Amino acid sequence: MTTISTSDGDPARGGAIPAGATLLHPEPDRNCPLCPRLSGFREAARAREPEWFNSPVPAWGDANARLLIVGLAPGMQGANRTGRPFTGDYAGDLLYATLLEYGFARGQYLARPDDGLTLVDCRIGNAVHCVPPQNKPLPIEINTCRQFLIATIATMPGLRAIVALGRIAHESTLKALGLRAAVAPFAHGAVHQAGAIRLYDSYHCSRYNTNTRVLTPDMFRSVFAKVRADLG
Ligand code: SF4
Repeated sequence: MTTISTSDGDPARGGAIPAGATLLHPEPDRNCPLCPRLSGFREAARAREPEWFNSPVPAWGDANARLLIVGLAPGMQGANRTGRPFTGDYAGDLLYATLLEYGFARGQYLARPDDGLTLVDCRIGNAVHCVPPQNKPLPIEINTCRQFLIATIATMPGLRAIVALGRIAHESTLKALGLRAAVAPFAHGAVHQAGAIRLYDSYHCSRYNTNTRVLTPDMFRSVFAKVRADLG
């Protein structure tokens, strides 16, 4: 495990709040205009699919949870359609099955927001709140949306563990914690201690990663087994 110096941030919170940061509401407005490319993409999706959510997808779960999962961005047919993180596309099948197995969710995942599933001591958000073309946000969009990740983290008083799904989520989370991305390189299964917060890395549970066996269900489960063992 890497222990990260938090001298650049707030050591009590794992360096969660960069000095001088202005805390906004943790969730953006549904018409957030800050990324012109993504707001245009969102508007086009609204015109094409008026019944879909087509807005920045808010984090889901209790702000008092000890675990936060940070994904990349909503998928077009998943969270962008349903409005709940990881709900409705392949990535959610593996994520929610794993959360149920390790006691971080309760109920039944039926890939729709009204399936009655609840999270237990767990919250789920994304590094980027709006669906990006080809699932690829630009660096400026990741940087712009980080203010909402910072605010999400800042409103979780009991936060002890963050699972970052993929390199982009990992690096944006480090920066949201007020740390340089270089202090803790991304690697699947790596664990980094930043003050009171332990950051766990996993490859993203996307269909592409699982189809190519970059990530197997066992590899994914092993990350959450560690989190469960550490949180008790
Ligand atoms: S990605 Fe984030 S910052 Fe950019 S438009 Fe969407 S909500 Fe706003």
